[in-house]
Parts: sequence; structure tokens; C-alpha cells
Amino acid sequence: MKPIVLDRPATVRLTVLPPLALYVHIPWCVRKCPYCDFNSHERKGPLPEEAYVERLLTDLEALLPSIWGRRVVSVFIGGGTPSLFAPSSIERLLSGVRARVPLDPGAEVTLEANPGTVERARFAGFRDAGINRISVGVQSFDDGMLQALGRIHSAGDAQRAIEAALEALGNVNVDIMYGLPGQSLVQARRDIEAALATGAPHLSAYQLTIEPNTVFWSRPPALPVDDAVADMQRTVEDLLAGAGFEHYETSAFARPGHRCRHNLNYWEFGDYLGIGAGAHGKVSFPDRVTRHERIRQPAEYLQKDTLAAEKVVPARELPFEFMLNALRLVEGFPLALFQERTGLPFSVVQREIDRAEADGLVERDLQRIRPSERGRLFLNDLLGRFIGAERKDPR
Ligand code: SF4
Repeated sequence: MKPIVLDRPATVRLTVLPPLALYVHIPWCVRKCPYCDFNSHERKGPLPEEAYVERLLTDLEALLPSIWGRRVVSVFIGGGTPSLFAPSSIERLLSGVRARVPLDPGAEVTLEANPGTVERARFAGFRDAGINRISVGVQSFDDGMLQALGRIHSAGDAQRAIEAALEALGNVNVDIMYGLPGQSLVQARRDIEAALATGAPHLSAYQLTIEPNTVFWSRPPALPVDDAVADMQRTVEDLLAGAGFEHYETSAFARPGHRCRHNLNYWEFGDYLGIGAGAHGKVSFPDRVTRHERIRQPAEYLQKDTLAAEKVVPARELPFEFMLNALRLVEGFPLALFQERTGLPFSVVQREIDRAEADGLVERDLQRIRPSERGRLFLNDLLGRFIGAERKDPR
């Protein structure tokens, strides 16, 4: 496969800056799940909530010079298990954010919660603190599967947590995984049916993958074969479509009006500040796109200047970075968005788009480019076509 070659000089010119979101990482969990490769750490004793919120706000302050005058359109508090923090800490955090950056009046503000760490009153507390969307990490409604995944909650805990979150906030996502150890198609189907029965308006359905540096990587469980997983994926998509959910991103399904705005901003290659241990961010300027990253270890993060790395994204990497996000969207992206978000002319990807279309991996009309069904199935192959050519453009 021939990679993209940018003519030198490949100048980045952004005429409008993208929407700006804020991601906050809270890195502690009750227990580390054996499949998890996130920056999450087992809680040992009481959490340093106050000191951590202070540090988050210091982090945010350090980023202010790069975003002067810009409004934040969404906030996502992820982890780890952010619902381990008391509502009063989340309240302090969100008040601190509001005092430092203009937050859109209608901003979506999501908090990730795990069943087993929340009860009814806590959800009401999060709502009063300013949270208006909850994402519940359920993974399965089958107690045997939950045990195989090392989760701390039962199916009953999950049902109760979703019910309480819906009662307090209404706007709820449920995370489900399929392709689990020893899982049959019937079991995968039951999980989706159970998720639908909760009435949550958003579902994220992920295939379990075995990642390096996890317990499952060193001691792999017996997973269903590829064909069985493909059947599960089709079943998930059919069930959700039949129930009126829109499949809008590889793993995301929503009832009309309930798409996750924060995640859409990532997929549309928008900007976001990342604060908290190991958080990543992306900020655009008229002449460049930059990325920043924080120190990963919570103890270190609490003690020093937390910026681990900051870099300008080389122009040659921008086409791939854009496609890596935008081609996850089932409806694809408007043609003009490529230039708007990367600052590069569409001509740098024209040839690869033509080839991908000829190979049946993308479809397009005058306005949009979207992955075809085949393109979604072979997404990695499709994305690989947009990897930059380092030798020709050495910046
Ligand atoms: S609860 Fe979530 S973040 Fe925490 S260890 Fe398990 S999968 Fe990772």
C-alpha cells in the first residue's frame, strides 16, 4: 500500500478553530479489571479528592493561555471510576472549571459511573453538582460474564444503578461488551435485550479485545472465534436498529437526539483540553495543531508540574489523525470538514479517497464521504491508507 505523500512545504492554515471540549481523568478504581489498559489504578485507602481537584484546576489554569476567548462546549469526567468521588468534590471541580473557562450554557457534562460505587442519593448529588449525563459501565447483565471480566458488580447492581441514573438525570449511556470469554450468541443477544429494557437512550457496544499490559494479555481467556464475534456484532446492530436506535459511530448507538456530543467532537476532529493523570488533549491554532499529555502516575501527578509532553502534530500526520476519527462515523464527514479541521487542502487525500472508493471502502456524494459497509468491516485497512510518508516530508 502506497502511503500519502505531502508536497513540501505542507502548510497548515486553519481559518476557523474547532469546537473545544474538556476531558477530566480520575484514575482510581476499586479494583483493576483484567482486560483494562486504561490509566486506572486500584484504590488503596481514602482518595485524595481535595488535593486532586486542586491539581486538576491548576492544570486547567496552565492551559488557559492556549485557549483565550474560546468557550467549552462539553465536559467529560472519565476514568478510572469518577463516581468514587463524592458529589461535593465534583461540585468543587465544576465550579472551578466554570470560574476559569466560559462553559456553554447548554454544555453536555458527562460523568462515568460504575455500578457498585453509586446509590440513588449519589446520582442526585452529581446532578445538583452540574452533571447532566451519566455513562454507566455495565459490560454485561450476566453474573457469570461479570465474574469472568473481574467486575465488582452484579447484574442486579447494574439494573439498580441504571434505574437510579435514569431517575436522577434521564440522559444515560450504558456500556456493554460482547465477544466475552465463553460467550454464546444467545448470551450476547440477551445482554443487548437487557440493556434495551432499561430504557437508557444511549448504548455503547464494544467488542472485548485483549490489550498488552493487561492480565488477559499474559493469561488469555478462551474467546469466541472471529466468525462468532462477527455474528454477535451483526446481532447487536440489528437489535438496536430494530429498537429505533441510530448507529452513528462504530460502537455508539443512540435514540434520536441523544448522540454523545462530547465524543462526536473527538470524531469530528474537534479540540479538547485533557486534565488529570495521563489525560491527553488537542488544541488547534491558526497555523498548527498541538497535542498535550499529562503525567500518568497519580502519586507523581499530585506532586509536580503535570505536563508530560506537548508537541505540534506534524502536517504529514494530520490526514491519518483526521481519518482515524472521522471514518468511525457511520455517516462520515462533510468534505469541507477535512480542510477546516486539519488546515490542509483536500487534495492531499484526494488520491487515496479515489482509490478507497474504487476498492469499495468509502462512498461519497457531492457533500459527504462515508465508510461503506465493507469499509467499516475493514476499517484498519482503510485507515492505513492515510498514514503519512515520513521520508518525503521530514518535519
Ligand atoms: S472499572 Fe473501568 S477503568 Fe476501572 S479497571 Fe475496570 S475497566 Fe478499567
